[in-house]
Amino acid sequence: MSVRVRFAPSPTGNVHIGNIRTAIFNWLFARHEGGKFLLRVEDTDRERSTPEALQAVLDALNWLGIDYDEEPLYQSKRIGVHLAIAEKLVQNGHAYKEDKGGTGKGECIIFKMPGKDAVYTDLVKGELRKEAKDLKDFVIVRSDGTPTFHLANIADDIEMKITHIIRGDDHVENTFKHVALYEALGVTPPKYGHLPMIVNAQGKPYSKRDGAAFVGDFKSNGFHPDALFNYLALLGWSPGGDREKMTRAEMIEAFTLDRVKSGPSQMDLVKLTHMNSEYVAGMPQDDFIARVKDVLAGADWARNVDENFFREVAALMQSRTHLYSYAAGWKYFFMDDFDYEEKSVNKGLKKEGIRQALSSLASALEGIDFSVGTIEKIIHETELAAGAKQGKLNFSIRVAITGCATGAGLYETMVLLGRDKVLKRLRHAAEKLCGE
Ligand code: GLU
Repeated sequence: MSVRVRFAPSPTGNVHIGNIRTAIFNWLFARHEGGKFLLRVEDTDRERSTPEALQAVLDALNWLGIDYDEEPLYQSKRIGVHLAIAEKLVQNGHAYKEDKGGTGKGECIIFKMPGKDAVYTDLVKGELRKEAKDLKDFVIVRSDGTPTFHLANIADDIEMKITHIIRGDDHVENTFKHVALYEALGVTPPKYGHLPMIVNAQGKPYSKRDGAAFVGDFKSNGFHPDALFNYLALLGWSPGGDREKMTRAEMIEAFTLDRVKSGPSQMDLVKLTHMNSEYVAGMPQDDFIARVKDVLAGADWARNVDENFFREVAALMQSRTHLYSYAAGWKYFFMDDFDYEEKSVNKGLKKEGIRQALSSLASALEGIDFSVGTIEKIIHETELAAGAKQGKLNFSIRVAITGCATGAGLYETMVLLGRDKVLKRLRHAAEKLCGE
């Protein structure tokens, strides 16, 4: 039987990385097996399901390149079928009606657990068992006539002919109920695999308090979708060896459920950022420029900049741009009214002797061939004359010409800025920003 899996989000808010990781695992599994990856929208909660939240799910899938097969199934359109299944369960004695609490508001339909221990073999966690005494009857249709999650979930998995259910391990308890529902309906249950939670450094469920937690946050923080996909694929799955950066095709080729880990997966933003920097450094320059321009679309200074110069800046900065959002700090290449970081000014410029050193450097840089080698030599001579060790002046020069503490190689940055800007900024720093 060919594999059919699904991603079944409830569109009630932002898309958490835990949810999208579930989608990624299902997608990789389907593509590895040559099966189908389907989308089901669990929108039966009419109050909490919103069109915006659904759009956020579709945008997240699209951004990450997770394509689905066939038409999406909307659970809310199938309520009639869900209710018919509940009636069938009542008729064959597996469910009963009750006016819960005797309120007179209407009867709900309750599924009768079979009174035996429940056991199933989880593809990730192995055999799981629950004793009969801990398995209570449960509501499948509320007194207002709406089906509950349990009923709608299994009814639609049957309709969609789902063979494997891969979902978060917050659903393990539900699975005992779901397997019983399948049995009562005389349908063979699909195979289940429950993915471990994504946790923070303290081992607690990863939430927005821990930093970016929703797919949209990663997009706006300047992550590359392929890097996030790759990182999340490795969060709970090991391809074997110490492979980390992998192409989609390599992940599809290597993905099997027996390599999914059962222990919690710890989200590490530093590691993710590192992976992102590898993706960015390795991408074609034109792609990089296009992504960076997207990020800079809202920055006034980035309008009408010279295209060729922009390309040169991008070429110099690409390998240092760990996140696209870093490009917001490129202003100093293009404009003189960039901001100076106060901390860096204090550390780099407000020191004895710096004013003099920067102003002699400015004079010494006049009239030379303005290349990396010569600039380095002149800076070194200026340091010697000031009685400073080699390299001592670099930080101050960087702050004077860029306003910040980090960037590309100093001499390369100076060459790209050009002599006029460098001299102007060194003199401005000496006159206005340095201490005595
Ligand atoms: N809507 C459920 C969720 O997002 C689906 C659970 C399932 O995959 O069966 O948790």
